Amino acid sequence: MSYDNKTIHDFDFNLICEYFSNVERQGPGSPEATIKALGFIDNLSPQSRIVDLGCGTGGQTMTLTKHTTGQVTGLDIFPDFIDIFNRNAGSLGLSDRVKGVVGSMDKLPFEKESLDLIWCEGAIYNIGFERGMKEWRDYLKTGGYIAVSEGSWFTAQRPDEIYDFWMAHYPEIDTISHKVAQMQDAGYLPVATFVLPESCWTEHYFTPCSKIQEAFLQKHAGNLTAEELIAGQRYEKELYSKYKEFYGYVFYIGKKI
Ligand code: SAH
Repeated sequence: MSYDNKTIHDFDFNLICEYFSNVERQGPGSPEATIKALGFIDNLSPQSRIVDLGCGTGGQTMTLTKHTTGQVTGLDIFPDFIDIFNRNAGSLGLSDRVKGVVGSMDKLPFEKESLDLIWCEGAIYNIGFERGMKEWRDYLKTGGYIAVSEGSWFTAQRPDEIYDFWMAHYPEIDTISHKVAQMQDAGYLPVATFVLPESCWTEHYFTPCSKIQEAFLQKHAGNLTAEELIAGQRYEKELYSKYKEFYGYVFYIGKKI
């Protein structure tokens, strides 16, 4: 992002980035959920190549690195997130095994058939579950694994307010059985699915975000974009507490066959 050529869009990006840089996670999840998903993956060794797409500042990537022995690369489109990522890796003493790179999940900078594990928590929606599952498969070795968390419906019917919200933001949200079928159609053996517990949203995501919102609003007093960003965040939290029995995040784990 060039400062000289700043567009409104870049400015929004900078604000979003600044806001989320202050929290460990940029989406629902937890170290326990990451470790649980990792428990379904059995092909890893010190030679393994692991990537975490849409890694953000790397909360889950560091957990992944600590609980595996291979080389881990985190990829995110926001350079500021990657700077924080690499600083965190350094302070945890993990820089020899984990590195953050700037890049886009729709144009991966890896060799085809070179990866043992593709990880992606709360980020595949940026290109869509079906597309991501299909395109990323090319980069996995046969027998390699994919593990993604993704917004999913828990029930066949749901109230209009929550349905409309998701349709406006991510119409690819679907039931677990449909997502599993998409995974299978893309050429994976579905290995496991599990619903992320409520604490992944509350304790690990909404609560840390709520703590930084007042200071962020004060810093950007009078800035409409900042106000809209926080209002949107607060609305998301409210919707979750109102409708959490109808939707949530689900981990999908598959093996390339
Ligand atoms: N995995 C992290 C972040 C999830 S938020 C966590 O669970 O905490 C979604 C992330 O996707 C953000 O960090 C955002 O910068 C990143 N992102 C958005 N579009 C992207 C793209 N095209 N390529 C790579 N990363 C992208």
